[in-house]
Amino acid sequence: MTTDHTTLSAAPDPRPGADLFAQAPCRGLDPELFFPVGEGFAAAQQVRRAKAVCAGCPVRRACLREALRLGDTEGIWAGLTAAERRELHQLARAQGPLSRAARAAGELLAGRPARVRNAERPAVALALLGHGWSEERAAGAVGVSPHVVRQARETVRQLDRMRDAA
Ligand code: SF4
Repeated sequence: MTTDHTTLSAAPDPRPGADLFAQAPCRGLDPELFFPVGEGFAAAQQVRRAKAVCAGCPVRRACLREALRLGDTEGIWAGLTAAERRELHQLARAQGPLSRAARAAGELLAGRPARVRNAERPAVALALLGHGWSEERAAGAVGVSPHVVRQARETVRQLDRMRDAA
């Protein structure tokens, strides 16, 4: 997200190497596009349009890194909504010591109980999907709804697409 537009101009540009964002296609666009209000049809359309801009951005990974570094940011950054970034952040933290989620999944695969922290549940479920479990079965094993697993899966897919495009 470029920060040289009117809505953010009150804050100093916090990014080191901000000139990298000179290539960003959102530069020069109406910044409101990246800050949808509400959750109705119009907001969903706006999110889609903003994501389409980000999809072709050559600095998308840097944008995501920056958004995650800044923490609790609003609006669309790197083609992800604030909720999607929070989820990604949680997944990344849960997978941080990757072995934790993998180890817990290993226990469950072996039919043994596993101690799983709340924040790690989606990551463990994803590990189980990797072993051929269905979303419903993985969700049930870690105690979340299939919707949570689907969301986590979609977030990881988005990240993979972003990596492929970079
Ligand atoms: S990823 Fe999107 S928000 Fe970020 S710099 Fe590129 S176009 Fe702007």
